[in-house]
Formats: sequence, C-alpha cells, structure tokens
Amino acid sequence: MLPVHEQFYSFQGEGTHAGRAAYFIRTFGCPVHCPWCDSAGTWHPDYIPDRINRIAEEELAAAAAASKAEFVIVTGGEPSIHNLQPLVAALHQAGLKAHLETSGAFPIQGEFDWVTLSPKRWKLPLSENLSKADEFKIIVDSPGVIEEYTQPLNAKERPVWLHPEWSQRENGEVLNAITDWVKAHGAPYRAGWQMHKP
Ligand code: SF4
Repeated sequence: MLPVHEQFYSFQGEGTHAGRAAYFIRTFGCPVHCPWCDSAGTWHPDYIPDRINRIAEEELAAAAAASKAEFVIVTGGEPSIHNLQPLVAALHQAGLKAHLETSGAFPIQGEFDWVTLSPKRWKLPLSENLSKADEFKIIVDSPGVIEEYTQPLNAKERPVWLHPEWSQRENGEVLNAITDWVKAHGAPYRAGWQMHKP
C-alpha cells in the first residue's frame, strides 16, 4: 500500500520524454521542503489532509493499465521515501514501464526503467543515486545554481535539463543564464520548459 496524493492520466510535460502519454502516481511526503515547491500539497502541514488515501500497488497498476499511457511516472512529494519495489513489480507485471522523478536524496528501491534526478540544495542527492539517473533536471531559481548543481553530477552523455523555476520564468537573468550555459557548453545540457503548466 502506498499513500497516494493523486493519480491521473496526462502527458509528460518535461524532459526527454516530453509530450508522451503518461499515467502519473503522486505519493505523499517529502522531507526536502524546497521553498518554491509546486507539490506542497503532498507534505506541507497547511495543506496535508487529515486522512491520507492508501492504495494497493496492484490497484494503481490496474488503473494505469486501463489508460493508453506509454509509461507510468511515479512522482511526489519524494516517492523514494517509500519502498517502491512492489509498485514497480506490479507495473511491470501489467506490462507498463515505470519512470521515477526524484530528488535522489533517499535510496531508490525498485528497478525503474527511467530515472529523472532533480538535485535540491536543501537535501543533496546520495552519490549512489547519481549513477542511476538517466537524465538530470536542474530547477534554476537563480543564475548561480547551474554551476553549483551541475558540477558534481558527472553526467557524461546523459541529458542535463535546465528549467527556470516557475516563479522565475520571466526573470531575464535566469533565462539568460540558461541560454548562456547551453551555448557555452553544448551537450549534454539542454534548455528546458515545463509544458504542462498553464
Ligand atoms: Fe517539492 Fe520536490 Fe522539493 Fe520535495 S523535492 S519539496 S516535492 S520540489
């Protein structure tokens, strides 16, 4: 059983798989507490409900399998604070690929088919998780964080997406910093955007 904030069918709005039909499972709980979190409903005491819905992994997999999703995105909150092995097994049993969105700050349990790791300075990724990432996503809330976050990644050929933090999406300094970094370094850096936000 997993504590589930919401599950829904949509499309992946960012990163390498952007635009593809995806089923989302968003778990409760995150100890990272980014000040600009866009999913604070999963952890902030002002928003978290009195009663948290717990759903069996097989039930989640069946709901995803009933859609035409190309894969399932397990996100949060920080999903890796939970044991995700039973969910990944249930998804694979249902013939679905399992993608993970994580800060990388907690051990990843489960053999995911794709891991997006988005480091956060409030709780940095475990070194063991850096090698498990298929892509990285840096949320750029100020120009200086690009160097701070990218330096330890050892990304090699794995994509490193640079997204403006949503409240900074019209901040010229942030946008110019992303543009300048991608122009100066080329691959594996990519300027990114969150297509699913209005
Ligand atoms: Fe929100 Fe993600 Fe930061 Fe957790 S790691 S506080 S879910 S943005």
